[in-house]
Amino acid sequence: MRKATSLLLALVMVLTMLAGTAMAQEAYTGSAMGNNGEVTVSVYFEGNQIASIEAQHSETAGLGDVAIARLIDEMVASQSVAVDTVAGATNSSKAVIAAVTQAIEAAGLNVEDYMGPVDTAVQATEDMSCDVVIVGAGGAGMVAALQAVEDGAQSVVLLEKMGATGGNTVRSTGGMNAAGTPEQAVMEFTESAGVEKTLESAKADYGQELAQLIQTVEQQYADYQAAPEGYFDSVELFELDTLVGGKNLNDPALVSALAEQAADGIAWLHTIGADLTSVGSFGGASVKRIHRPVNEEGKTISVGSYLVPIFTQRVQETPQITLMLETQATEILMDNGAVQGVKAKNAGGEFTVSAPAVVLATGGFGANLEMVASYKPDLAGFVTTNAPGATGDGIAMGQAVGAATVDMEQIQIHPTVEQATSALITEGLRGDGAILVNQEGLRFIDEVGTRDVVSAAEIAQTGSYAYLIIDQKMVDASSVIAGYINSGYTVQGDTYEALAQALDMDAEAFAQTMNDWNAAVAAGEDAQFGRTSFAQPLDTAPFYAIKIAPGIHHTMGGLKIDTQAQVISTEGQAIPGLFAAGEVTGGIHGANRLGGNAVADIVVFGRIAGSSAAAFVLAEQDLAA
Ligand code: ADP
Repeated sequence: MRKATSLLLALVMVLTMLAGTAMAQEAYTGSAMGNNGEVTVSVYFEGNQIASIEAQHSETAGLGDVAIARLIDEMVASQSVAVDTVAGATNSSKAVIAAVTQAIEAAGLNVEDYMGPVDTAVQATEDMSCDVVIVGAGGAGMVAALQAVEDGAQSVVLLEKMGATGGNTVRSTGGMNAAGTPEQAVMEFTESAGVEKTLESAKADYGQELAQLIQTVEQQYADYQAAPEGYFDSVELFELDTLVGGKNLNDPALVSALAEQAADGIAWLHTIGADLTSVGSFGGASVKRIHRPVNEEGKTISVGSYLVPIFTQRVQETPQITLMLETQATEILMDNGAVQGVKAKNAGGEFTVSAPAVVLATGGFGANLEMVASYKPDLAGFVTTNAPGATGDGIAMGQAVGAATVDMEQIQIHPTVEQATSALITEGLRGDGAILVNQEGLRFIDEVGTRDVVSAAEIAQTGSYAYLIIDQKMVDASSVIAGYINSGYTVQGDTYEALAQALDMDAEAFAQTMNDWNAAVAAGEDAQFGRTSFAQPLDTAPFYAIKIAPGIHHTMGGLKIDTQAQVISTEGQAIPGLFAAGEVTGGIHGANRLGGNAVADIVVFGRIAGSSAAAFVLAEQDLAA
């Protein structure tokens, strides 16, 4: 078989050489299951040499696709499939390796001949020095790096312990909260009930503590109602939602900074080529405030896999930034109470990066299940939605140099995690109209309530799980849902009864639930559970269900910072030269983070940390001059 094709190849080669074009190549294909579906490769051979590899797949942008591209380069360069999987993208890595192996077999070649040593570039391990060293190339770290350069840092070293940038940020599906943006201004305001409900519950629960803020929002809302123009939202309402959602455990100064600077963050994203143009409802927000990216067809897409490739490309194109992957920071170096840089290690060994300013952007500790259980024992045994790098390194490194922590036991579980794969199903689905039903086919909660409340309600149902119900209209409006269908998360039925049967659920009860819900949407009133955000009725067949339960999602606690992103010591003083941003910090989200506030956090505080670090370095240089 191989011989015959080789002969044919030789003939084709002769013919094409005669035609004066490049040497002909023959392609063989192979495929294997990755994270989001089939990874299919075409391997082009020149004789027995792998000349090039093309891959088709739907792996996560910014993560799986980076791993696949890198492994393809390594396989071609070393003529070997004995490449290491990329940390953080194991399934995508394994799939591309298996697919190429299959293609080699399909070509009638011996896989044993393609198992030679792999040239992986050993990273530099020489000691380095720079203006700012940033630990962690997730959302906050990359934003901080870009902002530090914008603010005058001449050299930034960005260390990332995994094989790809992105951390938990690349997994973020929702969007970014911001109040008072031009994107909101052009929308029609239909969220009076949401504002009124927030004001009511804020008065009932925090009437004294938040009296001034409540009064300000009431006044703003009254002014708007007297002369409604544009959309109603305000920095103060954003603050109020965040504080009420966080059970008022939040640090109010950090919340103010977040709410005040988020709209500017949206504008800044635009300057680096990232547009979050679609504004929608999300759990815990009184009004439409979450800003999401859309694709060419106008469908909303996941924010993390949209932003991370843009951040990464920007970082790589910025000559002042050196990004080192698979390089872990292990220790903050101090001298006389001031930061001197970090110790780091990679495949080449240990080295130091000297810098007057260090930004910790290592993310949270949601993937460190032992650490999670040590702070909150009830969460032992839960699945996690977190990227494997979220192990709390920055918290430990910060504590080792005297940093204070806050709210460490505040660990958020996300109510909609697909249990077989730990994949997070975006909250946006509920904002866009999905409902939750239990195994009995009944709704049991206001689906757009805060994550802690919805999660607790799910745990109380039979089997501690629930089903998210969506219809074809929702599928047509969202490429995210299409991805869930492709990944095999959904069960489908042409009628309510058929879906119920497929879920082993009481068909009559489920159909009744759906009809009642559609009537509630039409009336704009949910008498059963008081939900105030309605999208469209779920009346367009086919209908889909995704089985979900809560999983560990976000660690709200972390290093104590101030509004300049300076890390605060256990003595209450800023540690000179030490900054932190993103999930490694605590205090912004209080006892519960609202969806859309993590991206707001990485953008706002990533920028603050980058600015503060650059300003610190420039001030030091001025002093030295
Ligand atoms: P955030 O954007 O909130 O900072 P992410 O989870 O998106 O959070 O990003 C944190 C990043 O930090 C991840 O990519 C993670 O792999 C990386 N990281 C964690 N610990 C270290 C460490 N010790 N050295 C280098 N990178 C680290």
